[in-house]
Amino acid sequence: MKEIHLPYSDQVIAAHRFQYCPMCTAALKRSPVIDAIPRIHCPACGWIQLVSDCVCVISVVKAEGGVVLLYPPDGLGPGLPGGIVEYGEAPEEAAVREVLEETGLQVMIVQSLGWSYVAYPDFPGPTVYILFEAEAVGGSLKEGDEGPVCICPVEDVPVFSPQRHGSYTAWQRFSHP
Ligand SMILES: [Zn+2]
Repeated sequence: MKEIHLPYSDQVIAAHRFQYCPMCTAALKRSPVIDAIPRIHCPACGWIQLVSDCVCVISVVKAEGGVVLLYPPDGLGPGLPGGIVEYGEAPEEAAVREVLEETGLQVMIVQSLGWSYVAYPDFPGPTVYILFEAEAVGGSLKEGDEGPVCICPVEDVPVFSPQRHGSYTAWQRFSHP
């Protein structure tokens, strides 16, 4: 383990506290480099650390009989389908992909339910949630990589755990527009 020489603010999660250049292994520095903001960069090869907030999408999916819920194995109760937007992927593409992976349903985005921000102190760190309403247009409901899925009548949807921030907020926006 190499020595830690660059301090980071408490806002930066441990996994992002780079000390040495990931390209050439030289010791990194913090100073203004592309604008007035001091940034972590490599004086040897020019690499610049530009970490962004994590971007997640969450969708309220309307289907015949209600909305789609899933039951991840984390003990927080039901949630809505969603996940991390990949590098270079549009949020609406990520939303469609995540619903397919987690529920087996093909969906069409109906509208945006806005966004929400949470500064998680650990993984995945500060996160922007982009929230969508979507409608099932094909596929068939099946358990995906986030646990069992079901279609729940709108009036029976439970209050989501506030710890499931994206699902909680998306449902608030959808049910109290
Ligand atoms: Zn370097």
